[in-house]
Amino acid sequence: MKLIKVLESVVENNFSNFYRNKYVKDEFDYKTIRSEKDLSKIPFLKREEIIAVPVEERTLVPSESVIYYSISSGTIDSTNPLIVPHSEFGPPAKLGVDRIYDENLNIKRLFFLMPSSAPSLMRLIFPMKKLGKVLLPGNIHDLDLSAKIASQVKIDAIFSTPTILTLFIGSLKKTGIDPRSIKLILIRGEFCSIQKINFFKEFFSEAEIDIKYGSSEIGGAIGYRCPHLKNFTPNVYHPLLKGIVESVEDEIVYTDLSSTKAFPLIRYRTGDAGTLENIDCPCGNKALLRVGGKIGFDKIKFHGVTLYVESLEDSFAEATEYMEPGQFKAHVTEKTIDGRIMPQISIKIGLKEEVETSDFLKGVISRSVSDRLYLSSDKSLSDLVKLDIFLPLELTLTKKWPCNLKSKYITSDI
Ligand SMILES: [Zn+2]
Repeated sequence: MKLIKVLESVVENNFSNFYRNKYVKDEFDYKTIRSEKDLSKIPFLKREEIIAVPVEERTLVPSESVIYYSISSGTIDSTNPLIVPHSEFGPPAKLGVDRIYDENLNIKRLFFLMPSSAPSLMRLIFPMKKLGKVLLPGNIHDLDLSAKIASQVKIDAIFSTPTILTLFIGSLKKTGIDPRSIKLILIRGEFCSIQKINFFKEFFSEAEIDIKYGSSEIGGAIGYRCPHLKNFTPNVYHPLLKGIVESVEDEIVYTDLSSTKAFPLIRYRTGDAGTLENIDCPCGNKALLRVGGKIGFDKIKFHGVTLYVESLEDSFAEATEYMEPGQFKAHVTEKTIDGRIMPQISIKIGLKEEVETSDFLKGVISRSVSDRLYLSSDKSLSDLVKLDIFLPLELTLTKKWPCNLKSKYITSDI
């Protein structure tokens, strides 16, 4: 049994006390686990627990076996990077159906726009070189410069995150590049909303868009889309069979089944929202993973309602022609009105350069967003305002602002 083998390898480990100490503290004896059915008895592993121990003290293999470190600076706790040692590359390309190698697509130059610590960079360099393909890393901190490079070397594929790609399109537009020359877009690294996927499809009209779900600490993708899932909404995946994917209180929890990894994650709380469903897919995979955003980052719960980034993006349906893509921020606050504490949502929208702001435009967008912004399954912001539960939307229209890749879409002072 793989799970028991992994547990044994991390507890009875010669190189690190990490799991031994953790399970003593958690009062957990791995020998009580008899099969995968007992999975829920294993304590969770949290990001903070990993960060609290220096990386060399939680490397469970000889140091020469480490081939790379993944680094995620995190979206919530950005002061401490999460550094994880890896002794192997993520799931094999064939499992993840890596489209870069498809002969029909015939990709020649892949533009890599990810943080430099992305595991995929290490995984791609050698096989691409062998196949006579060029991997060209761009600079995510200077997207205008990256766009100039991309247009000169005539790239035909882009590997990026939804946030970076959204901003990069703005820079590409300035170069006069023909977006139809891009044949493949690979989206990795974070949750991608439907609104963003549609925006990418519209701009790169000839490109195939390949989205996988994964994280750098896990070491790559844990969800992929088989051809049959093409007709589903974009945020559903099959879990890769390499590890165990659970949904606990709507959070994705991941367990490695490889006992040779430098740092196997066991019941690791990913911080990503997600649910698992059963499905009878013709490809043979029987599970469906529905991924939401980062918990506490892409959604916020307050006053009995939940505000999701996705709902916000949906509410902009009629405003997109005026908005600079990805330029919005919502803030949740409370005000005391006649002795009653009332919640209020403020939204700031960055307008396209050619759009002039006016009270009329503000009124139109404000009404449309309030009607379309659903805060529960059947109540929009307009409904809640009518019920006197919420204060009306406070909308600000501004010129576009310099984007920070880490900026939150939703903030709150409640
Ligand atoms: Zn399938």
